[in-house]
Amino acid sequence: MLKKFLYAFWILVLFVFVLLGLHNKSYQTFIQSVENRTFDIRQSIQANSGVRKHNNDIVIVAIDDASYEYILENYGEWPLPRDKYAKIVDYIEQQKPQSVAFDLMFVKSMKSSAKSDEALINIFKKYNNIYTAMNLDDQPQDLRVAPKLPEYLQMMPFPDSMNPLEYSNCRIILQGILDAHANIGMINVSRSEDGVLRQMPVYLKYQGKYYPQLGYIVGTNYQKTKAENIYPLRADEDANVILNWYGSAGTFENIPMYKLLKAAEGKESLNYNFKGKVVYFGATAASLFDIKTVPVDKVFPGVEVQATYVNNIIDGSLIHKIPSFVNIILGLCLALLTVSFVIIIKSLPVALGLSVTTYFIYMILTYYLMLFKNLWVEIVSPLSVAFLVFIMAVIIKYLIKSRDFDEQYKLATTDGLTELYNHRYFQEQMQMFCINAKRYETSFSLIIIDIDHFKNFNDNFGHQSGDAVLRQVAFTLKKNVRASDIVCRYGGEEMAIILPNTANEEAVNIALKLCKIISEKKFQLSNNRESNVTISLGVSTYGEIDGTEAQELISVADKRLYNAKNNGRNRVN
Ligand code: GH3
Ligand code: MG
Ligand code: MG
Repeated sequence: MLKKFLYAFWILVLFVFVLLGLHNKSYQTFIQSVENRTFDIRQSIQANSGVRKHNNDIVIVAIDDASYEYILENYGEWPLPRDKYAKIVDYIEQQKPQSVAFDLMFVKSMKSSAKSDEALINIFKKYNNIYTAMNLDDQPQDLRVAPKLPEYLQMMPFPDSMNPLEYSNCRIILQGILDAHANIGMINVSRSEDGVLRQMPVYLKYQGKYYPQLGYIVGTNYQKTKAENIYPLRADEDANVILNWYGSAGTFENIPMYKLLKAAEGKESLNYNFKGKVVYFGATAASLFDIKTVPVDKVFPGVEVQATYVNNIIDGSLIHKIPSFVNIILGLCLALLTVSFVIIIKSLPVALGLSVTTYFIYMILTYYLMLFKNLWVEIVSPLSVAFLVFIMAVIIKYLIKSRDFDEQYKLATTDGLTELYNHRYFQEQMQMFCINAKRYETSFSLIIIDIDHFKNFNDNFGHQSGDAVLRQVAFTLKKNVRASDIVCRYGGEEMAIILPNTANEEAVNIALKLCKIISEKKFQLSNNRESNVTISLGVSTYGEIDGTEAQELISVADKRLYNAKNNGRNRVN
């Protein structure tokens, strides 16, 4: 019972230690980066399994390498003259798309193309389902004075998400577009520390006001006008949401822009219907540099990130992290399971196997929770806590076992009354000493001791007093020989001392000394009485004279003890 309590107590102490360790900042950063990797792996597996389908209402018009080349060849410049965009939008709008969004910025007017800009601005005025992008930055004010943005671009921040990314400057887009309507979103992204884009801002902060992300307004407007279900959107305290990915680059339906250009100019027909679709324009060409690293792909165009974001909003599939206290509870449960395996199961490999299996099942569960419930249940910290606890439990179990072993060994080799070594140990040691003395050509001596007239003593003072004297004699003997000497209870009131590396003469002197000490000592009896006892001692020494076998040495010492008794007791022979 006490043992179990001790066991639980130590595990608790070590567990608190682990929890305190978890509060360490750099440890947390490390754990978070590994946790992010597990997120990427889960996302990659689910993306490759093809279980999660993207929404067919989203189509990307890709400014790919072929379109880039086509534009340079046919129009002689990049960016594409803006009246061409106007033409394309007009072409698409004939088919009644849900919305047309540009993951492109129509920055600054060029003098030579004022007419062309005008055409695009008119298109923005004509249709209210067109969205375009702006980008916030931190350029120094002496390069560019931070412009004021129209009030109608702002949004109300969420009460729990008041720390969005904040920027001090901004690149203004065509004034005419800014004036046309409010469908303008920011295209800044939030990268994790390792540079991977796992989350997107819902809004950003600029000049103390909040401005929405492009994907967020495209997605929420789709919800308002078309979706049957409106999923509540929750952001973290930094106003970010975690994206749920559908696959590597190229997952969404992709129409190269040059085909659309040809169709819009009547050069070639395009066999595609944009009715009801969210049409997202963006660069996918490697030379246009809008390439990100995301959990499922190292080379992923920004426009597909936007499409994924919109898709997540309209399907309600943004990833939610479970609250950290739930992660802690899960870690505790895993740790408890692990500890019970170690306590209950005798075999360490079986306990380890069971624990690892449990961890594995846990990982599979977290995978399915992400796949079907869009939940990010942490793997790294709960499992590392559980595994650490497993190791601690094993160590503690081992320590307790070895302590048990020490106790049992002591019980098996000592005598309960006198706490001297017992008869069996004495016999074993005698054998060992003889073997070693033979091998290393050394010697040792043996003293056998018997208390004189002890029967009488018992008769006079009672057995309990006899026991007390026996204990005190044992203690006195032990105290007056070297630590390397082995003092044993031979049986009854007889004791034996093995003296390593001790010649006969020296052993006799020791025996004389012990005889004198005992005879002069006052022994305490019960009822505060005192009494004297004497002992007789017989000495033998390993060698040619007394013998080289344990039994010989014992019987020689015994005989000498018998002689000492016959010669009047309280003496050495
Ligand atoms: P001597 O050795 O001097 O010849 O006389 P003795 O009376 O000691 O002789 P013997 O060996 O015949 O008696 C030993 C006595 O020691 C018998 C027994 O009552 C007592 N004795 C043996 N073991 C114990 C013990 O554990 N406790 C007590 N109280 N007495 C013991
Ligand atoms: Mg005796
Ligand atoms: Mg005796």
